Amino acid sequence: MTPTAAPSSSNPIGTLSAGTLPILRTVEDLRSQVAAWRREGLTVALVPTMGALHDGHLGLIRRGRELADRVVASVFVNPTQFAPHEDFDRYPRDEGGDAAKLASAGCHVLYAPTVRAMYPQGFATAISVGGPAEGLCGTFRPQMFGGVALVVTKLFLQALPDVAVFGEKDYQQLMVIRRFTRDLDIPVRVEGLPTVREADGLAMSSRNAYLSADERARAPELNRALTAAAAALAAGAEADGALTGIRGRIAEAGFGTIDYVELRDAETLEPVSAVTRPARLLAAAWMGKARLIDNVPVIPAG
Ligand code: AMP
Repeated sequence: MTPTAAPSSSNPIGTLSAGTLPILRTVEDLRSQVAAWRREGLTVALVPTMGALHDGHLGLIRRGRELADRVVASVFVNPTQFAPHEDFDRYPRDEGGDAAKLASAGCHVLYAPTVRAMYPQGFATAISVGGPAEGLCGTFRPQMFGGVALVVTKLFLQALPDVAVFGEKDYQQLMVIRRFTRDLDIPVRVEGLPTVREADGLAMSSRNAYLSADERARAPELNRALTAAAAALAAGAEADGALTGIRGRIAEAGFGTIDYVELRDAETLEPVSAVTRPARLLAAAWMGKARLIDNVPVIPAG
């Protein structure tokens, strides 16, 4: 590998870089970089992603910069969280574009390991999470949270950051990560960032690239329906009616299969039928070839 970034005291590794952003491919290089920062007394934030970065991801980087002295972003499309029929092969990939965006957001290092480096020949370990991983996306994508737990645990142990930042856009995933981090005594603080949205309310997502222009115009109705129902629930509306109302509204807007629309406790993710403490409305539905997910808080009035 030809070094193109000038090594500095906090970047002792000869690394391939895009602009000024070093790109590390191996766990050894990542650990050397983090160790060099540690020797300087610097703190480290990790932002795991699957790439095809948008402003939601960059919000996590900016939050990481507020929370720590150095920010590592990982880009790894993790095969263990996709079922064979899902979009692993066609998931958008753009490492050059990602590196440029990360550099502009103030990220210090991009960690982009290969699949073979993360899952070498003979890899034989799995992690199974219950509790918040049950139901919702856990029902419709049964392999997902085991794969997320595996890759995030590996990334945590590889980078050993002080803090890691995840988006509330994937609210169930955030709760699952908090759960196994606590359960496995992994010494990493897990921070959540509110969902970053397009001007019309659509949650930013790499999978929005799958939407046609017409589907893109219809997609914000998911957020509008959730937001309206959350206000009604907070004011005392009955849950079944609110959930049925969301289903009708998004079906009308052109969503096809609705995987779920549910009201859950905001912390435990247990199903709730009335809002007496902070809750979360969560939904997943298909618009054309894109499976869109979204969620909003429901805060009881008074
Ligand atoms: P992904 O690359 O889709 O796996 O997402 C990587 C991280 O970015 C996860 O923590 C996501 O929750 C977060 N993320 C994705 N989209 C958004 C968004 N619109 N707002 C905030 N965080 C997001």
